[in-house]
Amino acid sequence: MFCKLASGEIAAGTVYSDDRVVAFRDVAPAAPIHVLIIPRRHIENILAANKADEALLGHMLTAASRIARQEGIAESGFRLVINCNEDGGQSIDHLHIHLLGGRKLGWPPG
Ligand SMILES: [Zn+2]
Repeated sequence: MFCKLASGEIAAGTVYSDDRVVAFRDVAPAAPIHVLIIPRRHIENILAANKADEALLGHMLTAASRIARQEGIAESGFRLVINCNEDGGQSIDHLHIHLLGGRKLGWPPG
């Protein structure tokens, strides 16, 4: 599913896209704003990212900031999350950043 999204086969719910990343709304939102930011190129998870991916990873973060502003949660605050493997709660094997906001988020996370 994620790879289809990354390749542009599925465009529903897209909130941002450019030549390197796509961002779309989570189908099971955990907060009023819950966007997933993914690289178009397949990277299984953060452990699979290497030095050659550093510019792409940085681009994902600046895209996340841009989307937070676009979604109107930059001032109130938001959280970026990367889950990895089973204990981290990674459910799909394509690297993604969760952008969460629109309510007060608890700490520590569950
Ligand atoms: Zn993929």
